[in-house]
Amino acid sequence: MTTERTLSIIKPDAVKKNIIGKILQRFEDNGLKIVEARMQSLTKEKAKEFYKIHSARPFFNDLVSFITSGPILILVLEGENAIEKNRKIMGATDPKKAEKGTIRADFAESIDANAVHGSDGQDTAKGEIAFFFKN
Ligand code: ADP
Ligand code: MG
Repeated sequence: MTTERTLSIIKPDAVKKNIIGKILQRFEDNGLKIVEARMQSLTKEKAKEFYKIHSARPFFNDLVSFITSGPILILVLEGENAIEKNRKIMGATDPKKAEKGTIRADFAESIDANAVHGSDGQDTAKGEIAFFFKN
């Protein structure tokens, strides 16, 4: 087992629903430590850059509009197997397909407004953490 760091974002839908605390509790209950945190509203420019891997997808514009629709909480989580563990705690991208007890199954409305972001691998975790947190 190795200690890893991963990027998490609590998206505008969850911030608006006032459930930041409930989501952070899930991370902590699963042994993930919050080692960085910043609340911010993303500019369209920054959002497009963050999601550039999805720029050719039909939902790209909606995704950028949604993530810039209100403040978000950007986090770095640390722990054993943090990247995979966080993906498990989050649940599937589409809340309708997410396993019971996951953040998305319990708190998310739709595939667009799906409460959280989480890095999906070692390389993206590294890149996404550097994108938001210098050094
Ligand atoms: P995840 O957030 O689970 O890693 P992806 O990286 O595939 O999912 O997609 C990034 C985000 O884009 C998703 O969290 C979701 O908000 C949005 N998204 C993905 N697929 C769709 C889709 N088919 N329709 C609308 N939005 C989507
Ligand atoms: Mg992803």
